[in-house]
Amino acid sequence: MDKITILQELGDEIKTCPKCRLAETRMHAVPGEGSPRASVMFVGEGPGENEDKTGRPFVGQAGKFLNGLLEKAGIARDEVFITNIVKCRPPNNRVPLEDEVEACSDYLMAQIAVIEPKFVIPLGGAALKTLLGGDLKITQARCKVFRKSGILYIPLYHPAAALHRSQLVETLQADIMTLRELLNRELREDEITDLSAVVTKPKRESSTRSSPDKPQEETLSLF
Ligand code: URA
Ligand code: SF4
Repeated sequence: MDKITILQELGDEIKTCPKCRLAETRMHAVPGEGSPRASVMFVGEGPGENEDKTGRPFVGQAGKFLNGLLEKAGIARDEVFITNIVKCRPPNNRVPLEDEVEACSDYLMAQIAVIEPKFVIPLGGAALKTLLGGDLKITQARCKVFRKSGILYIPLYHPAAALHRSQLVETLQADIMTLRELLNRELREDEITDLSAVVTKPKRESSTRSSPDKPQEETLSLF
């Protein structure tokens, strides 16, 4: 089966997926969209109100801002693939819960496996944590290059963060230009942090995802 067909079938499965509580409140699941052959994949946190209404990722305010950033960097939206860590809208745009992220992660992993992007761009803290583990903070990890299982990850702030904190607009605008530069050239080994080489902690117990005593700010996502 070709990539388009596999992605379509995945999308169909997502649209009727009952695997977590977000299925009960969604209007439309949002599988993601873009080129099945994308070399760059952007991963946000979860659909918002407009995405839930339309079934398309990043079409609301944050999406408009993202479109502007991509345009500024000369990155065509239809040449990349854009999706989220959870495919259904969390009520009131709350941060997806750990079990929701877990339930949905097979879809994201399958999308990455099919598309085989060279770069994955986690947008914001929640995507970063899901894709690269809980120890990295978006403030420090942004615009750095990580390698895990042969894929290069370059985290950026979530575009919605800039809608809430205007001082991040310029940061994101500068970061998207850095991203473009990194996407367009050969990277040296010393620019890449290889996470496969990092010894991982024992499974789950020590995962920062599940700690109820974490500071509020961290469980509050993204921004
Ligand atoms: N924010 C996200 O994280 N994803 C979307 O699709 C829209 C807004
Ligand atoms: Fe299924 Fe993911 Fe939607 Fe949960 S968020 S119902 S796992 S598609």
